[in-house]
Amino acid sequence: MSSEGSKYPGLRPLPPDFVRDFPPLALVVEDKCIACDRCPPLCFFDAIVMEARPRHKFKRTAIVIPDNCTGCGLCFEACPVDAFVWEPDKDIGKGPSKAAEKTERDLGV
Ligand code: SF4
Ligand code: SF4
Repeated sequence: MSSEGSKYPGLRPLPPDFVRDFPPLALVVEDKCIACDRCPPLCFFDAIVMEARPRHKFKRTAIVIPDNCTGCGLCFEACPVDAFVWEPDKDIGKGPSKAAEKTERDLGV
């Protein structure tokens, strides 16, 4: 990802290994979101907004605007219910996550 023309041109690029294993795009698992409003103001890149979801238990959910997300990971730290996943892990529960696979590979298990 190039920082050229970005809103934060001084931001250093992510390490290539990280970008390869975790393409930097956060995603909200909407069913997990409790609409606490904590993450939108916290994202430096204005990549998170709250959206109405009439059928959702809390009537709203946070969503990530993909074009704005830099993969900084701050939202993962902020969320009290672990509602964020990296996009490759969106099928969580259908198999080992990329993170788990990488850890297993690194450990040689
Ligand atoms: S990973 Fe960073 S840029 Fe992307 S939504 Fe989360 S806080 Fe915003
Ligand atoms: S911090 Fe988590 S629970 Fe709170 S609004 Fe954001 S995604 Fe939803």
